[in-house]
Amino acid sequence: MYWGLAAATVFATLLMAGIAASASAWLLEAAWSRVGRAKSFGGPAVHAECVFCWRMLPAAAAVFASCGIAFPAFLRFEPRHTSETINPFLGAIAMAGFAMSVVALFRIARGAWAGLHCMRYWRTHARLLGMCGAVPVYELDIAGSLVAAVGAFRPAIFISTAVRAALSEAELSAAILHEAAHLEVHDNLKRILLRSVPMPLRRRQADRSWSIACELAADARAVAAHASALELASALIKVGRLSHTAIPQSVLASHLVPADQPSSIAMRVERLLALSNAPSGYQPGSGWQVLLYAALPAASLACICLQPSTLAAAHQWIEKLVS
Ligand SMILES: [Zn+2]
Repeated sequence: MYWGLAAATVFATLLMAGIAASASAWLLEAAWSRVGRAKSFGGPAVHAECVFCWRMLPAAAAVFASCGIAFPAFLRFEPRHTSETINPFLGAIAMAGFAMSVVALFRIARGAWAGLHCMRYWRTHARLLGMCGAVPVYELDIAGSLVAAVGAFRPAIFISTAVRAALSEAELSAAILHEAAHLEVHDNLKRILLRSVPMPLRRRQADRSWSIACELAADARAVAAHASALELASALIKVGRLSHTAIPQSVLASHLVPADQPSSIAMRVERLLALSNAPSGYQPGSGWQVLLYAALPAASLACICLQPSTLAAAHQWIEKLVS
């Protein structure tokens, strides 16, 4: 019963902390939007990382509360020969927390498997065009607007024959640099986390906001990597006119023109035209600073939470849950 009670405590805490953190994140976002700074803060790279951190915050808080506080508190203070049992309330929320975890892990596994399967199939049917740094670039003999960086750990860039025929060499080169920019900041890895982590409130808006910021940031990084802003803008318009290439939704891919964002092309072209007039040596800014700024308070909070007095308070809360 000891380990059953421990598991029930962990999963129940996971669910309740997840709900509480989601509500807090939603209130934070509402307050941030109200003061009108959400769109003006930093460049697109910084904005994309802010949205990603905000989106991952509830899940990270829930995992920390359950595995980093509730579980150590249980191990430290609960007697091994406890007479306590799993009551119906604790059992129900623990089951819900367990189901939520299984669904999240299943989504990660499904995304990874679909990506691997798609990559294997495409690689055997594609022609190697060259390398962009360490990333192979393939041409796939299909119609439609496919320009995508696929995979998270051994990624590749795929371009459809229709796109290759429609774009000039300079436009194609700019499009490939846009895809390489996605891979440089691990957008596909972030994509699988965003798809897998549940969020009860405003998930669709948050993911769309991240996706748009991601595209703007990849455009800016491509220009910083010496892609021509005008050629990239031209490539966006030409690819946007082609019919969309349907690939399974579970495949991890960062596109030049995402299927759900045809309306963002005008905004991206406008920004690229502005970048074409920017002084040379333009730098888009780094989103890693945001991750660092997020990690420092998180580490400080972790040190505070793992104090013996915090664990004792957590165990008292656990006692109320099981009684
Ligand atoms: Zn893109």
